[in-house]
Amino acid sequence: MRVAVLGSGQLARMLALEGIPLGIEFSFLAEEKGVTDTRCVDGLGHIAYWEENMTGEQLFEALKKPDVVTFEKEQIEIAPYKDLENYTQIAPSFSALAYCQNRNAEKTLLNKLNIPNASFFFADNWDDFKVGFDKLQLPVVVKSVTDGYDGKAQWRVKKPEDIDDVPKSAVAGGVIVEEFISFIKEVSVVGVRDRQGNKKFYPLAENTHDNGILVRSSVPAEAVDEALVQKAASYMERLLDEMEYVGVLAMECFVTEQDILVNELAPRVHNSGHWTQNGAVTSQFENHLRAITGLPLGSTEVHGFAGMINLLGPTEPAHISLTDRSTLHWYNKVVKPGRKQGHVNFVAKSRDDLNRAMDDLQAQIEAAKKG
Ligand code: AMP
Repeated sequence: MRVAVLGSGQLARMLALEGIPLGIEFSFLAEEKGVTDTRCVDGLGHIAYWEENMTGEQLFEALKKPDVVTFEKEQIEIAPYKDLENYTQIAPSFSALAYCQNRNAEKTLLNKLNIPNASFFFADNWDDFKVGFDKLQLPVVVKSVTDGYDGKAQWRVKKPEDIDDVPKSAVAGGVIVEEFISFIKEVSVVGVRDRQGNKKFYPLAENTHDNGILVRSSVPAEAVDEALVQKAASYMERLLDEMEYVGVLAMECFVTEQDILVNELAPRVHNSGHWTQNGAVTSQFENHLRAITGLPLGSTEVHGFAGMINLLGPTEPAHISLTDRSTLHWYNKVVKPGRKQGHVNFVAKSRDDLNRAMDDLQAQIEAAKKG
């Protein structure tokens, strides 16, 4: 069985690291020879390089005739890869990917399925943008529909004059203008669906972001009403079935005083599910591979309490002193400021122990940054 991953970053790496023990072979599609850094996947399988105007057949051959093709990021252009469907299976499907590539399509799908999310309007020209704006109460968040992840290509508009900070070119490319949600916390659900429609979910993770970048996740999320946890699971179930989704899907949410609102979807293994490598019976990576290769899904049960802290550049692994409750996952990337270089997973018997171990590491990272 060979799985090809469109991409050669850390998610591709972690998929391979979990798939090799299952007997799966891997190939990876890197963007450009001599330019794309493939250090994350070096030694883990065959690396092919994208070339202009490759046909599906050429790509299929270059990837060594995979049984199934998956991807590690949603910002890929579908058209150049579409022809691959004539040679092999793609999972999740390109149609599921298309929903998650465009915030307008994604939120329209949420509304169709009666899944609560922040009110919004879509605009792709300055006149509609201005008119719609006058109807929404400030503050709002303007988000490019196609560009942007980790909080990029987003603008907070708190007062009317802030509207001028939004580039006209961004509006022309399509934006959603979304009500600003005063959330209590951010949480996410990672779910998986196989080809037969069987589904499993990991518990709600509680996430902390800094400047739009995930810093820390822990499970189970603390002090979230059980009714909201159930709501989140039912939304995930609806989405997976509606898209006839195969593989892992992540759903990021805001918890407010009374409700849980879906913020965005990621059609792939997700940073807020990295804790599953050490904290769950079957990791999100293994379950994604099981789903797309037709193996039965594995248990999503958690070993007590679990968490993850991202290591953002310039942290070096040597700077991180590991406690006996934690495991380092280093991505082998060139170190750059702000870049996700690795993460540390934690497993503990109690929430207090988990928080203590995580706080300890976070304090060390802060201290190392200060010098
Ligand atoms: P996103 O790229 O949509 O995940 O947004 C990045 C981060 O910006 C989120 O994790 C939130 O912390 C924040 N954010 C996004 N949308 C909103 C909103 N409508 N109201 C308040 N905060 C938001």
